[in-house]
Amino acid sequence: YCHLTSDIFAVCMPSDMESIYRVIDSIQTSMNHYPVNFEMVMSFGIYIITEKDKQERIPVVTMVDRAAIAQRVKNNYMNKIAVFDDKIAEKEYAEQNVIMEMNNALGSDQFHIYLQPKVDMITGRIVGSEALVRWIHPTKGVISPVDFVPIFEGNGFISEIDFYMLEQVCKMIRRWLDKGLEAKPVSVNLSRSNLYSPRILNDIMTCVERYSVPHDLIEFEITESAFAVDNIHLNQLMEQLQKNHFRVLMDDFGSGYSSLNALRELSVDILKIDIKFLPVSQNDKRADIILRSVTQMADQLGLEMVVEGVETEAQADLLKKMGCRIAQGFLYYRPMPIEEYERVLKKQK
Ligand code: C2E
Ligand code: MG
Ligand code: MG
Repeated sequence: YCHLTSDIFAVCMPSDMESIYRVIDSIQTSMNHYPVNFEMVMSFGIYIITEKDKQERIPVVTMVDRAAIAQRVKNNYMNKIAVFDDKIAEKEYAEQNVIMEMNNALGSDQFHIYLQPKVDMITGRIVGSEALVRWIHPTKGVISPVDFVPIFEGNGFISEIDFYMLEQVCKMIRRWLDKGLEAKPVSVNLSRSNLYSPRILNDIMTCVERYSVPHDLIEFEITESAFAVDNIHLNQLMEQLQKNHFRVLMDDFGSGYSSLNALRELSVDILKIDIKFLPVSQNDKRADIILRSVTQMADQLGLEMVVEGVETEAQADLLKKMGCRIAQGFLYYRPMPIEEYERVLKKQK
């Protein structure tokens, strides 16, 4: 056994699961007795060395990497022990491909903005939109952000994407203003890995000023999972953004572990709830009560609310009855290229 780096250790031992679990148990027990006043949560990645590995002389460092990948890919709050398997190997391969291609993709304009309108459900009118990234790959076609955003979040490349998106959005709004087109607010997603960079506010201001975009036309969506990590620091950033007249949204409210706490500690302007985290239906009384209460709470806190993922008329009717007004969802519009959004807005006018 050895210490690898920071808080990571490696153990090489006979590969029967029973003794592995015994070792894990004993590590956990001894850590629980360690005199610190916070909970230490441990996670374990396992790679089983095969005969083939021995024949192929797979280096130890690769085996350790694979254990680490299993730990990273499969672990979650409930599942602290993960074994590397074929599925993870496939995922690893796909991830490596994405990582190999990402810089070239950014350099050759393969990332594009799609806009999904936010709609006032009472009037049916578009009140703004969210900018969502799409990777349009020369051979693979359109790649969805769920297939690369988590990878970029893992390796830090997401900062480049988020700023690229912000810059493209600023450019787009500048063009709307110059051409006398209608310009409605656009929200940009900011990943949590950006939020702790000391330069972030400066970078945002520089970008927005370069295109002289009025600040009330840009909003920032920060996912709820970003809160909870360091709320004091995050709140400073959010207050600075608000002081500069940008509006801040809490995205995916209710999907994480600490929604209410985050809401208490942080100054946001808009709560965004994804209906998939709280599927409402005509006969689901409990979901109905929760959503109704969240709506009232937002109202009393003076926050606007946007409900995303609205797919059916029934959902929209229920939401309207509860006093929700702004929705984003396939019922109204899917995310679309900029030119199409411009056409839709023109038609509405
Ligand atoms: P998000 O920010 O919560 O964005 C909303 C997602 O819900 C979008 O998925 C949108 O297409 C989808 N959606 C909207 N209405 C409906 C509906 O009625 N039904 C269903 N089933 N889905 C709906 P998308 O575009 O695939 O993006 C997924 C996530 O990827 C986003 O979730 C966001 O977390 C991330 N993402 C996208 N673009 C960016 C970006 O530029 N930067 C960062 N950091 N993350 C991004
Ligand atoms: Mg969002
Ligand atoms: Mg969301």
